[in-house]
Amino acid sequence: MNLSFNQESCTGCGACVKYCPGHVLEMGPEGIPYERYPDDCWYCGVCQVECPQDCITLLFPYLIR
Ligand code: SF4
Ligand code: SF4
Repeated sequence: MNLSFNQESCTGCGACVKYCPGHVLEMGPEGIPYERYPDDCWYCGVCQVECPQDCITLLFPYLIR
């Protein structure tokens, strides 16, 4: 898992899913995004920047592949 979502403040707007260039994220059944393809994340931070609620945190340490 590369990200954490603050489920309290997520409104389910879908911006993170829409703007992730790697198509890593999908909306879950409860309207909260999750990492559908975590191995495709390269920590670009776009999801974090685009989230209007500031509820995405990139988790450290970075995974080295
Ligand atoms: S850090 Fe980048 S690649 Fe990873 S989920 Fe967010 S937008 Fe997608
Ligand atoms: S951009 Fe933020 S508020 Fe919108 S669905 Fe993603 S995590 Fe939730």
